[in-house]
Amino acid sequence: MPFLEKAHRRSRKPFQLPQVPPRSKGGVVCDVCVNQCEIPEGAKGYCGLRRNQAGKLSGPSEGGGRLRWYHDPLPTNCVADWVCPAGTGAGFPRFASRSGPEYGFKNLAVFYHGCSFDCLFCQNWTHREGLEGGGEVSPTQLAEAVDPYTRCICYFGGDPTPQLPHALQTSIVALKKAQASRTILRICWETNGSMNPSLLDRMLDLSLESGGCVKFDLKAWNDNLHRALCGVSNRRTLENFERASRSISKRPDPPLLVASTLLVPGYIDEEEIRQISRWIASLHRDIPYALLAFYPQFCFDDLPVTSRTFAFRCKEVAEEEGLRRVRIGNMHVLS
Ligand code: SF4
Ligand code: SF4
Repeated sequence: MPFLEKAHRRSRKPFQLPQVPPRSKGGVVCDVCVNQCEIPEGAKGYCGLRRNQAGKLSGPSEGGGRLRWYHDPLPTNCVADWVCPAGTGAGFPRFASRSGPEYGFKNLAVFYHGCSFDCLFCQNWTHREGLEGGGEVSPTQLAEAVDPYTRCICYFGGDPTPQLPHALQTSIVALKKAQASRTILRICWETNGSMNPSLLDRMLDLSLESGGCVKFDLKAWNDNLHRALCGVSNRRTLENFERASRSISKRPDPPLLVASTLLVPGYIDEEEIRQISRWIASLHRDIPYALLAFYPQFCFDDLPVTSRTFAFRCKEVAEEEGLRRVRIGNMHVLS
């Protein structure tokens, strides 16, 4: 533990992030994610976004989010593109504009700064650079980026979790606009799954009605390994995934719930993939599962990329455990 704590401290210090979730008796409590920070006056929560200002919780919220956004032509390089309406036409004509890939349309990609985890292998670590200073984007401003050719919004980051109230409000405004003009607009999420379950329920409702999906990144099965790599327990993530799986039957196609795991060399091994796959299959054998290639980044910039042999072996393992929809993502990265 001392060795691991040192590694996480070193990863957070350059960004002035708290070393551990604050536990200040009498501090302001934030209940947005698993960390349940108790923030002392003048300090910030583990994500670096929410603060205790004069005894009140402040930070990006329904009013303004800390984020970058851009349009991506469809079909795009999305964790779920191999099963979703944009990549395949699943759910046509209610949820997709074409019976195949949605060429000619676009995705609104919303990259939230900040995260509730501290993954040493983070593949998008630049999200930490946008935590301080600069302007904030209101839900109404962000919803204005949805034009007549936008068919989906994908909230990712960092992680959308610490700023979920902002993302939920944006989705409500954007969906109202899309419904008024009778256009398809799917609401999708890419997340570590650490949010308060009541927020997850609202995410699921929005995705269900719009034809979108919730993509959970299941980073490790063993909780000790998860804490070592990500600084936080995986308990809430697994509970939330199981909770989300109960809604699958409400709309089996296009899939509501999608899982992924990054194949970090030397850490996420065959046994990890076997355990995760066995568990997903016990919930529903048709949950799509994407195995993602690792690229050396951030604190793990001295590791090799995932090998092709290992990725294909993991795919076999996941299928042996009963999963029917397994895919290797980022094939071009594999060595
Ligand atoms: S969102 Fe999570 S990490 Fe951020 S302050 Fe709230 S409980 Fe802490
Ligand atoms: S955001 Fe949703 S609909 Fe769009 S490409 Fe990704 S998974 Fe598909």
